[in-house]
Amino acid sequence: MKITGFSVYCVELPLHEGRYAWSEGKSVDVFDSTVVRIDTDSGLFGVGEVCPLGPVYLPAYAEGARTGIRELAPQLLGEDPRELLALNEKMDRRLKGHPYVKSAIDMACWDLLGKAAELPVSTLLGGRFGEDVVLYRAISQRPAAEMAENVAGYRKEGYRRFQLKVGGRPEEDIERIRAVRAVLEPTDRLVADANTGWLMNDALRVANAVRDLDVYIEQPCKTYEECLSVRRHTDLPFVLDEVIDSVHAILRGAADGAMDVVNIKISKFGGLTRARQARDLCVSLGIAMTIEDSWGGDIVTAAIAHLAHSTPTEYLFTTTDFNSYVTRSIADGAPQRVNGRMAAPTRPGLGVEPKWDVLGDPVWQCRA
Ligand code: MG
Repeated sequence: MKITGFSVYCVELPLHEGRYAWSEGKSVDVFDSTVVRIDTDSGLFGVGEVCPLGPVYLPAYAEGARTGIRELAPQLLGEDPRELLALNEKMDRRLKGHPYVKSAIDMACWDLLGKAAELPVSTLLGGRFGEDVVLYRAISQRPAAEMAENVAGYRKEGYRRFQLKVGGRPEEDIERIRAVRAVLEPTDRLVADANTGWLMNDALRVANAVRDLDVYIEQPCKTYEECLSVRRHTDLPFVLDEVIDSVHAILRGAADGAMDVVNIKISKFGGLTRARQARDLCVSLGIAMTIEDSWGGDIVTAAIAHLAHSTPTEYLFTTTDFNSYVTRSIADGAPQRVNGRMAAPTRPGLGVEPKWDVLGDPVWQCRA
Protein backbone atom coordinates (compact mmCIF):
# COMPACT_ATOMS: atom_id res chain seq x y z
CA MET A 1 0.00 0.00 0.00
CA LYS A 2 1.33 3.41 -0.98
CA ILE A 3 0.26 6.94 -0.05
CA THR A 4 -1.02 8.70 -3.18
CA GLY A 5 -2.38 11.94 -1.80
CA PHE A 6 -3.09 14.26 1.11
CA SER A 7 -6.07 16.57 1.56
CA VAL A 8 -6.20 19.09 4.40
CA TYR A 9 -9.50 20.46 5.73
CA CYS A 10 -10.09 23.30 8.11
CA VAL A 11 -13.13 23.31 10.41
CA GLU A 12 -14.35 25.63 13.15
CA LEU A 13 -15.62 24.02 16.36
CA PRO A 14 -17.73 26.41 18.49
CA LEU A 15 -18.39 25.52 22.13
CA HIS A 16 -21.69 24.75 23.86
CA GLU A 17 -20.54 26.88 26.80
CA GLY A 18 -19.52 29.72 24.43
CA ARG A 19 -16.01 30.02 25.84
CA TYR A 20 -13.37 27.81 27.40
CA ALA A 21 -11.13 29.67 29.86
CA TRP A 22 -8.11 28.60 31.87
CA SER A 23 -5.09 30.03 33.69
CA GLU A 24 -3.73 33.57 33.34
CA GLY A 25 -6.83 34.83 31.50
CA LYS A 26 -6.34 32.55 28.48
CA SER A 27 -9.44 31.46 26.56
CA VAL A 28 -10.78 30.11 23.27
CA ASP A 29 -14.24 30.87 21.80
CA VAL A 30 -14.08 28.82 18.59
CA PHE A 31 -11.57 26.01 18.05
CA ASP A 32 -9.73 25.89 14.73
CA SER A 33 -9.33 22.20 13.87
CA THR A 34 -7.40 20.59 11.03
CA VAL A 35 -8.43 17.29 9.42
CA VAL A 36 -6.06 15.32 7.19
CA ARG A 37 -7.24 12.73 4.68
CA ILE A 38 -4.62 10.34 3.30
CA ASP A 39 -5.48 8.46 0.10
CA THR A 40 -3.70 5.30 -1.04
CA ASP A 41 -3.31 3.18 -4.15
CA SER A 42 -5.46 0.49 -2.47
CA GLY A 43 -8.57 2.68 -2.60
CA LEU A 44 -8.60 2.90 1.22
CA PHE A 45 -8.25 6.29 2.86
CA GLY A 46 -7.50 7.32 6.43
CA VAL A 47 -8.33 10.43 8.45
CA GLY A 48 -6.66 12.23 11.33
CA GLU A 49 -7.27 15.48 13.21
CA VAL A 50 -5.21 17.96 15.19
CA CYS A 51 -6.63 20.86 17.19
CA PRO A 52 -4.31 22.96 19.36
CA LEU A 53 -5.84 24.60 22.44
CA GLY A 54 -5.40 28.02 20.83
CA PRO A 55 -1.91 29.42 20.18
CA VAL A 56 -0.80 29.99 23.81
CA TYR A 57 -1.30 26.64 25.56
CA LEU A 58 1.47 24.46 24.11
CA PRO A 59 4.01 25.53 21.44
CA ALA A 60 1.42 24.74 18.74
CA TYR A 61 -1.13 26.71 16.71
CA ALA A 62 -3.69 25.78 14.07
CA GLU A 63 -2.10 27.48 11.06
CA GLY A 64 1.25 26.05 12.17
CA ALA A 65 -0.20 22.53 11.96
CA ARG A 66 -1.35 23.17 8.39
CA THR A 67 1.94 24.83 7.38
CA GLY A 68 3.88 21.90 8.81
CA ILE A 69 1.68 19.35 7.04
CA ARG A 70 2.25 21.19 3.73
CA GLU A 71 6.01 20.92 4.38
CA LEU A 72 5.96 17.22 5.31
CA ALA A 73 3.20 15.62 3.23
CA PRO A 74 4.82 15.81 -0.25
CA GLN A 75 7.84 13.97 1.17
CA LEU A 76 5.64 11.09 2.35
CA LEU A 77 4.00 10.31 -1.01
CA GLY A 78 4.79 6.72 -2.00
CA GLU A 79 5.39 5.60 1.61
CA ASP A 80 3.50 2.63 3.12
CA PRO A 81 1.13 4.17 5.73
CA ARG A 82 0.85 0.85 7.59
CA GLU A 83 4.52 0.93 8.63
CA LEU A 84 3.97 3.36 11.47
CA LEU A 85 7.37 3.35 13.13
CA ALA A 86 9.17 3.64 9.79
CA LEU A 87 6.86 6.48 8.81
CA ASN A 88 7.46 8.31 12.10
CA GLU A 89 11.23 7.90 11.75
CA LYS A 90 10.94 9.38 8.29
CA MET A 91 8.84 12.31 9.55
CA ASP A 92 11.40 12.99 12.29
CA ARG A 93 14.25 12.98 9.77
CA ARG A 94 12.41 15.40 7.47
CA LEU A 95 11.09 17.81 10.11
CA LYS A 96 12.82 18.23 13.44
CA GLY A 97 10.46 18.64 16.37
CA HIS A 98 6.94 20.03 15.80
CA PRO A 99 5.24 16.88 17.13
CA TYR A 100 1.72 18.32 16.72
CA VAL A 101 2.30 18.70 12.96
CA LYS A 102 2.92 14.95 12.72
CA SER A 103 -0.02 13.93 14.92
CA ALA A 104 -2.87 14.08 12.37
CA ILE A 105 -0.72 12.32 9.73
CA ASP A 106 0.18 9.52 12.14
CA MET A 107 -3.47 9.23 13.26
CA ALA A 108 -4.66 8.92 9.64
CA CYS A 109 -2.09 6.17 9.06
CA TRP A 110 -3.41 4.24 12.10
CA ASP A 111 -6.88 4.59 10.58
CA LEU A 112 -5.50 3.09 7.36
CA LEU A 113 -3.67 0.28 9.17
CA GLY A 114 -6.91 -0.66 10.94
CA LYS A 115 -8.93 -0.56 7.75
CA ALA A 116 -6.31 -2.68 5.95
CA ALA A 117 -6.25 -5.20 8.82
CA GLU A 118 -10.04 -4.97 9.25
CA LEU A 119 -9.48 -4.36 12.96
CA PRO A 120 -10.27 -1.42 15.24
CA VAL A 121 -7.27 0.68 16.26
CA SER A 122 -7.88 -0.28 19.92
CA THR A 123 -7.14 -3.94 19.03
CA LEU A 124 -3.93 -2.92 17.27
CA LEU A 125 -2.92 -0.81 20.30
CA GLY A 126 -3.18 -3.80 22.64
CA GLY A 127 -6.83 -4.78 23.01
CA ARG A 128 -9.84 -3.49 24.90
CA PHE A 129 -9.91 -3.36 28.69
CA GLY A 130 -13.48 -3.52 29.98
CA GLU A 131 -16.69 -2.33 28.36
CA ASP A 132 -15.88 1.37 28.36
CA VAL A 133 -13.66 4.07 29.89
CA VAL A 134 -14.33 6.77 32.49
CA LEU A 135 -14.37 10.42 31.44
CA TYR A 136 -13.57 13.64 33.22
CA ARG A 137 -15.18 17.00 32.58
CA ALA A 138 -12.95 20.06 32.31
CA ILE A 139 -14.55 22.96 34.17
CA SER A 140 -13.77 26.25 32.49
CA GLN A 141 -12.44 28.99 34.79
CA ARG A 142 -15.24 31.14 36.22
CA PRO A 143 -16.08 32.57 39.67
CA ALA A 144 -16.16 29.83 42.35
CA ALA A 145 -19.95 29.61 42.72
CA GLU A 146 -20.46 29.33 38.96
CA MET A 147 -17.86 26.54 38.71
CA ALA A 148 -19.56 24.63 41.56
CA GLU A 149 -22.88 25.03 39.76
CA ASN A 150 -21.37 23.75 36.50
CA VAL A 151 -19.85 20.75 38.29
CA ALA A 152 -23.21 19.91 39.86
CA GLY A 153 -24.83 20.13 36.40
CA TYR A 154 -22.27 17.87 34.73
CA ARG A 155 -22.53 15.48 37.66
CA LYS A 156 -26.23 15.11 36.84
CA GLU A 157 -25.17 14.16 33.29
CA GLY A 158 -23.16 11.27 34.75
CA TYR A 159 -19.64 12.64 35.12
CA ARG A 160 -17.82 11.65 38.33
CA ARG A 161 -14.39 13.11 37.60
CA PHE A 162 -13.73 16.80 37.27
CA GLN A 163 -10.78 18.95 36.35
CA LEU A 164 -11.05 22.51 37.58
CA LYS A 165 -9.28 25.20 35.64
CA VAL A 166 -7.44 27.18 38.30
CA GLY A 167 -4.06 28.93 37.93
CA GLY A 168 -5.56 32.33 38.73
CA ARG A 169 -5.24 34.39 41.92
CA PRO A 170 -4.49 32.01 44.81
CA GLU A 171 -7.30 33.30 47.06
CA GLU A 172 -9.86 32.79 44.29
CA ASP A 173 -8.45 29.38 43.40
CA ILE A 174 -8.70 28.22 47.02
CA GLU A 175 -12.35 29.33 46.96
CA ARG A 176 -12.94 27.50 43.66
CA ILE A 177 -11.50 24.22 44.96
CA ARG A 178 -13.43 24.40 48.26
CA ALA A 179 -16.73 25.33 46.56
CA VAL A 180 -16.47 22.47 44.07
CA ARG A 181 -15.31 19.79 46.51
CA ALA A 182 -18.34 20.68 48.66
CA VAL A 183 -20.80 19.60 45.90
CA LEU A 184 -19.03 16.27 45.23
CA GLU A 185 -19.41 12.83 46.79
CA PRO A 186 -16.38 11.17 48.45
CA THR A 187 -16.01 8.75 45.52
CA ASP A 188 -15.89 11.59 42.95
CA ARG A 189 -12.44 12.63 41.77
CA LEU A 190 -11.29 16.24 41.67
CA VAL A 191 -8.20 17.70 40.00
CA ALA A 192 -7.16 21.36 40.34
CA ASP A 193 -5.28 22.08 37.11
CA ALA A 194 -3.28 25.32 37.21
CA ASN A 195 -2.00 24.88 33.64
CA THR A 196 1.39 26.44 34.56
CA GLY A 197 -0.38 29.55 35.93
CA TRP A 198 1.10 29.75 39.45
CA LEU A 199 4.48 30.82 40.72
CA MET A 200 5.89 28.45 43.34
CA ASN A 201 4.74 30.58 46.26
CA ASP A 202 1.18 30.77 44.87
CA ALA A 203 1.11 27.02 44.36
CA LEU A 204 2.22 26.29 47.91
CA ARG A 205 -0.30 28.73 49.38
CA VAL A 206 -3.11 26.97 47.50
CA ALA A 207 -1.84 23.46 48.26
CA ASN A 208 -1.52 24.29 51.97
CA ALA A 209 -4.96 25.87 52.11
CA VAL A 210 -6.71 22.80 50.63
CA ARG A 211 -4.52 20.10 52.21
CA ASP A 212 -7.52 18.78 54.19
CA LEU A 213 -9.40 18.04 50.94
CA ASP A 214 -9.32 15.09 48.55
CA VAL A 215 -7.89 16.92 45.54
CA TYR A 216 -5.06 16.44 43.03
CA ILE A 217 -2.78 19.32 42.00
CA GLU A 218 -1.96 19.40 38.26
CA GLN A 219 0.92 21.26 36.59
CA PRO A 220 1.14 24.18 39.04
CA CYS A 221 4.07 26.02 37.43
CA LYS A 222 5.76 26.53 34.05
CA THR A 223 8.94 24.50 34.39
CA TYR A 224 9.65 20.96 35.54
CA GLU A 225 12.00 22.27 38.24
CA GLU A 226 9.36 24.60 39.72
CA CYS A 227 6.76 21.81 39.70
CA LEU A 228 9.24 19.44 41.38
CA SER A 229 9.90 21.99 44.11
CA VAL A 230 6.15 22.34 44.80
CA ARG A 231 5.75 18.56 44.70
CA ARG A 232 8.43 18.18 47.38
CA HIS A 233 6.51 20.50 49.70
CA THR A 234 3.00 19.04 49.47
CA ASP A 235 1.34 15.76 50.35
CA LEU A 236 -1.43 16.18 47.78
CA PRO A 237 -1.36 13.74 44.84
CA PHE A 238 0.34 15.36 41.87
CA VAL A 239 -0.21 15.36 38.10
CA LEU A 240 2.25 16.62 35.47
CA ASP A 241 0.97 17.60 32.04
CA GLU A 242 2.54 20.41 29.98
CA VAL A 243 6.15 19.41 30.81
CA ILE A 244 5.53 15.72 29.97
CA ASP A 245 6.10 15.65 26.21
CA SER A 246 8.45 12.69 25.66
CA VAL A 247 9.49 9.34 27.10
CA HIS A 248 12.60 11.14 28.41
CA ALA A 249 10.41 13.52 30.43
CA ILE A 250 8.48 10.55 31.87
CA LEU A 251 11.69 8.71 32.81
CA ARG A 252 13.12 11.82 34.46
CA GLY A 253 9.88 12.44 36.37
CA ALA A 254 9.73 8.80 37.48
CA ALA A 255 13.36 8.88 38.66
CA ASP A 256 12.73 12.08 40.67
CA GLY A 257 9.38 10.89 42.05
CA ALA A 258 8.01 14.09 40.51
CA MET A 259 4.42 12.95 39.94
CA ASP A 260 1.79 10.30 40.62
CA VAL A 261 -0.09 10.77 37.35
CA VAL A 262 0.89 12.10 33.92
CA ASN A 263 -1.25 13.58 31.19
CA ILE A 264 -0.62 12.08 27.77
CA LYS A 265 -2.01 14.19 24.96
CA ILE A 266 -1.76 12.55 21.55
CA SER A 267 -0.55 15.64 19.64
CA LYS A 268 1.89 16.65 22.41
CA PHE A 269 3.75 13.40 21.69
CA GLY A 270 3.33 13.56 17.90
CA GLY A 271 0.55 11.03 17.25
CA LEU A 272 -0.73 7.67 18.37
CA THR A 273 2.58 5.89 17.67
CA ARG A 274 4.58 8.04 20.11
CA ALA A 275 1.70 8.39 22.59
CA ARG A 276 1.41 4.59 22.66
CA GLN A 277 5.14 4.31 23.46
CA ALA A 278 4.63 6.75 26.35
CA ARG A 279 1.50 4.89 27.50
CA ASP A 280 3.29 1.54 27.55
CA LEU A 281 6.25 3.05 29.41
CA CYS A 282 3.90 4.47 32.06
CA VAL A 283 2.25 1.07 32.49
CA SER A 284 5.70 -0.48 33.00
CA LEU A 285 6.62 2.21 35.53
CA GLY A 286 3.29 2.00 37.41
CA ILE A 287 2.25 5.57 36.58
CA ALA A 288 -1.44 6.31 36.02
CA MET A 289 -2.43 8.44 33.04
CA THR A 290 -4.96 10.89 31.79
CA ILE A 291 -5.15 10.03 28.09
CA GLU A 292 -6.45 12.76 25.80
CA ASP A 293 -5.36 15.46 23.34
CA SER A 294 -5.05 19.24 23.43
CA TRP A 295 -8.55 19.54 21.89
CA GLY A 296 -10.48 18.24 18.89
CA GLY A 297 -13.75 17.03 17.42
CA ASP A 298 -15.10 13.59 16.55
CA ILE A 299 -11.92 12.23 14.95
CA VAL A 300 -9.63 13.22 17.83
CA THR A 301 -12.22 11.86 20.29
CA ALA A 302 -12.23 8.50 18.48
CA ALA A 303 -8.42 8.35 18.54
CA ILE A 304 -8.39 9.18 22.26
CA ALA A 305 -11.00 6.47 22.88
CA HIS A 306 -8.89 3.82 21.09
CA LEU A 307 -5.76 4.68 23.08
CA ALA A 308 -7.64 4.97 26.39
CA HIS A 309 -9.72 1.82 25.90
CA SER A 310 -6.57 -0.20 25.12
CA THR A 311 -4.93 0.92 28.38
CA PRO A 312 -5.15 -1.40 31.44
CA THR A 313 -8.05 0.02 33.47
CA GLU A 314 -6.15 0.66 36.70
CA TYR A 315 -3.60 2.80 34.83
CA LEU A 316 -6.24 4.93 33.13
CA PHE A 317 -6.73 7.81 35.57
CA THR A 318 -9.27 9.31 33.19
CA THR A 319 -9.89 10.43 29.60
CA THR A 320 -11.92 13.00 27.62
CA ASP A 321 -14.80 13.23 25.14
CA PHE A 322 -14.00 16.54 23.44
CA ASN A 323 -16.74 16.01 20.85
CA SER A 324 -19.36 16.63 23.55
CA TYR A 325 -17.93 20.12 24.30
CA VAL A 326 -18.37 21.42 20.75
CA THR A 327 -21.51 22.21 18.76
CA ARG A 328 -20.36 20.82 15.41
CA SER A 329 -20.03 17.11 14.55
CA ILE A 330 -17.46 16.38 11.83
CA ALA A 331 -17.76 12.57 11.62
CA ASP A 332 -20.26 9.76 12.15
CA GLY A 333 -19.36 6.78 14.32
CA ALA A 334 -17.39 8.70 16.97
CA PRO A 335 -17.79 7.71 20.65
CA GLN A 336 -20.83 9.19 22.37
CA ARG A 337 -20.82 9.69 26.12
CA VAL A 338 -23.15 7.55 28.24
CA ASN A 339 -23.24 8.22 32.01
CA GLY A 340 -19.83 9.87 32.06
CA ARG A 341 -18.22 7.03 30.09
CA MET A 342 -17.39 6.24 26.46
CA ALA A 343 -16.26 3.24 24.42
CA ALA A 344 -13.90 3.06 21.45
CA PRO A 345 -15.64 2.34 18.11
CA THR A 346 -15.54 -1.33 17.09
CA ARG A 347 -15.46 -0.75 13.33
CA PRO A 348 -12.11 -1.11 11.49
CA GLY A 349 -9.58 1.71 11.85
CA LEU A 350 -10.68 4.69 13.93
CA GLY A 351 -14.27 3.68 13.09
CA VAL A 352 -15.37 7.13 11.96
CA GLU A 353 -16.83 8.37 8.68
CA PRO A 354 -16.08 12.07 8.07
CA LYS A 355 -18.98 14.35 7.18
CA TRP A 356 -17.49 15.74 3.98
CA ASP A 357 -20.26 18.32 3.64
CA VAL A 358 -19.32 19.76 7.05
CA LEU A 359 -15.59 19.71 6.23
CA GLY A 360 -16.18 21.44 2.89
CA ASP A 361 -13.50 21.81 0.22
CA PRO A 362 -9.91 20.98 1.16
CA VAL A 363 -7.75 24.03 1.90
CA TRP A 364 -4.72 22.21 0.46
CA GLN A 365 -4.01 19.00 -1.46
CA CYS A 366 -1.04 17.16 -2.91
CA ARG A 367 -0.99 14.13 -5.21
CA ALA A 368 1.66 11.65 -6.28
MG1 MG B 1 -3.72 19.60 32.28
